[in-house]
Amino acid sequence: MRLRDIAGQDQATALLLRAVASGRIAHAMLFDGPDGVGKRSAALGLALALCCPEEPNLGCGACDVCRRILAGQHPDVRVLAPETNQFLLEQAKEVVALACSRPHEAPARVLVIDQADCLNPSAANCLLKTLEEPLPGNFIVLVTAAPARLLPTIRSRCQRVRFVGIRPAILIELATRRGIDRARAETAAAMAGGSAARLFELCESEVESNLWTVASRFRQAAAASEMGPIFDAAAAFSDKEERQDLPEALALLARFYRDSLALAAGADDLVFLRSHSAEMAGPADLCQRRHSLMPLRRAVTVVLDACSGLAANVNAVTALEKMMMDIRSLAVEAS
Ligand SMILES: [Zn+2]
Repeated sequence: MRLRDIAGQDQATALLLRAVASGRIAHAMLFDGPDGVGKRSAALGLALALCCPEEPNLGCGACDVCRRILAGQHPDVRVLAPETNQFLLEQAKEVVALACSRPHEAPARVLVIDQADCLNPSAANCLLKTLEEPLPGNFIVLVTAAPARLLPTIRSRCQRVRFVGIRPAILIELATRRGIDRARAETAAAMAGGSAARLFELCESEVESNLWTVASRFRQAAAASEMGPIFDAAAAFSDKEERQDLPEALALLARFYRDSLALAAGADDLVFLRSHSAEMAGPADLCQRRHSLMPLRRAVTVVLDACSGLAANVNAVTALEKMMMDIRSLAVEAS
C-alpha cells in the first residue's frame, strides 16, 4: 500500500512523505499506535517511497520493484516478526549484519521489526549501536502497539511516528467500500476501537450481528411490561462460555443509548449507528421521550456500570438483571 492510500493516518503519512521528499529521513523510527491501524502497511509504504524507480519519493505501488516489496520478495525490504513470542538474539544479529552493508539493488534498504515490544533484552541490546548508526541507505522501522514495553535506550534512538485509532466515519467507509452493508459496517465500526483489522474481523465472522442481537434483546427486555424477559435475557449468560462477547455487546448497547441521546437532542451529526435511528425513535422505549434527555443519559451510565462490574468479576447474571431493571425503572419514571 502506498503511503497516500493509508486511511485515517494523515498526520503520520504526511510526516513520512515530507521526510522522504526532503531527504532528511531518520535512519531509525518507531511507529507506535493501536493494533490494526496501518503501522506495518505504512512501513511498507515508506519502503515503496524510498525504493520505487517509477515515482521516486512516493512509490507507484505497481512497478516490478513495488510489487516485489509488497509481496515480501524484495531483497532490500524485510519484515521481521518475533519467533514464538519474542525476538531472539539471532534475529537481532541478522538485522545488524544487514544494516552494516549496502542495499543489494534498491537505493535504500528498509528493515521492519514488527511487534518490536517482543524484543528480548539481549536482542534489544544487540540492536542499540545499529539503531544509532546504520550504514547510510539503511532504515530501521520498529513497529509496536506497546511502546512502553521497549527499553528506554531503544526508544530514545528512534524518531517516533504516532499512529492513531481510525475515526469511525473512515472505518465505515472502508467497510462499505468492501461491499459490507451500511448497518453492519456501523455496528462493526462501533465495536472496532479504531482498528481496521478488528473491523474486518468483526464483519467477516459476523460477530457484529450477534452483538447487535444481544444488545437488542437487553433493550427490549428492559422495555417489556413484564419482568420475565429480563430474567430470561440475563439467564442466557449464566455459562462462562456465553460471556465472551458480552463486554462488546454492552459497549454497543451504551452506544445505542448515546446515539439515541444525540438524536433526541437534535445533534444528528453525532449519531453513529445511523441505520438504526428508526429504532432509536421507536415506541415502548426510553428513546421516544424526546422531552426528557435525562433517562437516556442515565441509561448510558447504567450500561457502562454493568460493563465495569463484569470487568471486576461480579456475578454476570445479577449485573445484567440489575442493568435491565434500572433501565426499566428509568422508562417508568420518564413516562
Ligand atoms: Zn513503483
